[in-house]
Amino acid sequence: MHNVNQLKRTRDPVRKRDALREEKEGSEQGEVVYPYFIPLEENYGPRVVMAGREIIMVGSNNYLGLTRDPRVQEAAIKAIERFGTSCSGSRFLNGTLELHEELEARLALFVKKPAALTFTTGYQTNLGSISVMIDKQTLLIADRNTHACVFDGIFLGGGLNSGVKLRRYRHNDMDHLERILEGVDPDAPKLIATDGVFSMEGDVANLPRLVELSKSYNARLYVDDAHGLGVIGETGRGVLEYFDVFEDVDLVTCTFSKSFASLGGFVAGDEDAIDYIKHHSRPLIFSASIPPANIAAALKSLEIIESEPDMIAGLQRKSERMRNELASLGFDTGESETAIIPILLRDDRKTFQFWKALFDAGVYTNAVVSPAVPPERSLLRTSIMATHCQEDLDSVLDAFEKTGRRMGII
Ligand code: PMP
Repeated sequence: MHNVNQLKRTRDPVRKRDALREEKEGSEQGEVVYPYFIPLEENYGPRVVMAGREIIMVGSNNYLGLTRDPRVQEAAIKAIERFGTSCSGSRFLNGTLELHEELEARLALFVKKPAALTFTTGYQTNLGSISVMIDKQTLLIADRNTHACVFDGIFLGGGLNSGVKLRRYRHNDMDHLERILEGVDPDAPKLIATDGVFSMEGDVANLPRLVELSKSYNARLYVDDAHGLGVIGETGRGVLEYFDVFEDVDLVTCTFSKSFASLGGFVAGDEDAIDYIKHHSRPLIFSASIPPANIAAALKSLEIIESEPDMIAGLQRKSERMRNELASLGFDTGESETAIIPILLRDDRKTFQFWKALFDAGVYTNAVVSPAVPPERSLLRTSIMATHCQEDLDSVLDAFEKTGRRMGII
């Protein structure tokens, strides 16, 4: 639990912000650098208006640009006209629409699982799924870089003090995972959890090896593919398609706030598991369901993803080009294989300075510093959208090149 004393710790983000505000020399121009909570005054997808200026957005999760697709917008408007602006209650009692059930049935088919269940956010999906999958007997073994909500599920599941066991393996380090598995009771229930595509660096989990290890050590496998679905795999079915491991992953989760242009999330798996989650998950039972507009937007986005594989191929091509060009300019782009391309700067201050210089040049990226990542992995997170045009991407590369040279980064 946080207490007042802990809030004073230097790693606290609020103190960090205040310190940054005080560091007038923090940016190239000697201005205050604070790259968070910046309001979007307009949002056209690949271009937005911020601080009164048009900016190219390479810092969103709107990978397919579907939030501005007229078909998705129209579906959301029609759902509001038909069902109103809210379901006003939880799925359990009075907040289930036919649209929720239709989307669940179609998502299950999409990820080739017998059943799926939607939650009101991606965060709640993992919170609500992990918390019911673990108990005092079950050991959760997760990649260190797995999204926070998977770890938060432990606390809803009773917390570490209640005897829930957690081990974290080094990021994508399969030898470390195997050593952990070797050391635990072979008969104890175990759940291995990982992101499919890691949200900050765009690298992909080693699913083939995870599948082997989960089989050899009798563990169940849980994959959060928030950044993979709609982005990787030939038809956008994410990391399960990328490695063809549909059969071997027990539970897959995703959010609708990225490729699905909406708000919400889902978990898919076998019928018993989904039914169990449905009747035991507190974030599902005690929170209002996805509103009509959002469920309709996710459903329409799924339809578009299924019917337009060219759009996904286009995103993959654009991402590959940007990855190659940024790397050939001399930037360190880590291990990315997806639409998320990190620019590793390995220094918090340099990251803020570069962020500000790019912002001034009309390019919006995400500054990712400690404690979100270790200080030696501070980075600018960029993400490519299917709706970026050639001119957008050329301008981004030009800004990166000029700013990178001026600051001595490349
Ligand atoms: N999982 C991952 C891997 C994420 O990156 C995020 C959010 N960025 C979530 C889950 C939570 O999703 P949401 O924002 O829809 O609650």
